[in-house]
Order: sequence, then C-alpha cells, then structure tokens
Amino acid sequence: MKKTTMGLALLMLSSLSYAETPQPRTDRVLTVEEQALLTPNQVVELLGGGNDRFVNSSRTVRDHSSLVRDAASGQYPKAMILSCVDARVPVEDVFDQGIGDIFVARVAANIENTDILGSIEFATKVSGAKLVVVMGHESCGAVRAAIDNVQLGNITALLENVKPAVDALADYPGEKTSANPEFVQLVAEKNVELTIQNILEKSPIVAEMVAAGDVNIVGAMYDLHSGEVTFLD
Ligand SMILES: [Zn+2]
Repeated sequence: MKKTTMGLALLMLSSLSYAETPQPRTDRVLTVEEQALLTPNQVVELLGGGNDRFVNSSRTVRDHSSLVRDAASGQYPKAMILSCVDARVPVEDVFDQGIGDIFVARVAANIENTDILGSIEFATKVSGAKLVVVMGHESCGAVRAAIDNVQLGNITALLENVKPAVDALADYPGEKTSANPEFVQLVAEKNVELTIQNILEKSPIVAEMVAAGDVNIVGAMYDLHSGEVTFLD
C-alpha cells in the first residue's frame, strides 16, 4: 500500500516536470515556435536533464533517419556549446541531444576568437538559440600545455589565449605546474570565466541579447571521471 502511494506520488511529480519542460525529440526536430517559447533557464534545465541521462546510461533512443529528414528544411537549436576538441568530451552525447538540438563549436581549450564569436552570433542572433555554454573540462591538455609554456608550431599562438587564465592564478599558493591537478582545474575554470568575459566584451550583439534577458551565457565544467557537467555560477 505504502509502495503504491509512493509510486503515485513519484508519477505525479514526474508528470509535473514533464508538463513544465519539453521532452527530448525522438522523431522530429525542434520547431521555430517551440524554440521561441523556451527561456534560457529552461534550456539550462533541459541540458542538465540530458546530462543526468548520460551519466545514468539512459540516453534517449532517437530515430535518426526521421530526424535527418525532418531537419533538412531548417534548424532551430536551443543552445550553442563552446567546448574543447578533447575526444573524451562528445558534446551531443554528454547532454543527450540529437540532430538539430544544439550548435557546437569546438577548439582546444574552448577559447574565443573572431570565428568563434561569429559562430556564436550566428547561433543566437540569426538562428534563435537561447543559451551559450562555455564548457571546460578536467585535465585539459591545452590548459596543461599553457601552464607548461609549450612552444610548438601553431599551438604556441593558440596557447597564448589560455595564458591570461594561468597569469590570473599567479597568487596560487601551491605547485603551479601541470602535474598539480588542482591547479590545472582552477586554471581551466578561470579560462571558462575569462572566455565568457571576452565574448561579452567583444560581441556587442551577444552582450545586448544577454542584457535584454533573451539569451544567457553560462560556464560549465565536465568531469572526465563521472561524465557530470557542473554549471558554474
Ligand atoms: Zn581540453
């Protein structure tokens, strides 16, 4: 009897959350009307729910053939994720998102540059995405290389973009090398924070949409051990 009551209560709770947040699409892509109704906070919740499913190995089964056909006529993704190129961070999988659900820009150490800024402006201003996520990750090779001051080909110039985050932690009291996981993590988080600052400073288009509340930009960190994404304050 008790079990039944608890089951009913759980069912009611889940029905409530189902009514409040749209469920993952399995056979068709998000429409322009559905995209327009989403708020930035709802998109954070949707991505968080998707990451819960990823962590719990309960990712959504999708009809890819149907989604491909449906998406051919247009795309109305809900978010833009700026992530590292790291092969251990498969962005769509990490958030349990399918075809047409999210824009993804990937560059080592998830830094911004003119092309990335243009891509973010395309995703938000032109295509209506409601959320920009800058996602760093644990034990990032590019962050570790920036800490070690690696000099190699074009990697040298790329790492210059990460150096401000290393410099910002000059007062860190412990060992400031890539052999210290705590320091690497702090630099990676600072790098996410500085990337967001740079995006807002260098893109008046994004800054205006954020100020108006039409779009939000948030930082996140991916845990390689658990698969969990933590959204940063
Ligand atoms: Zn990385």
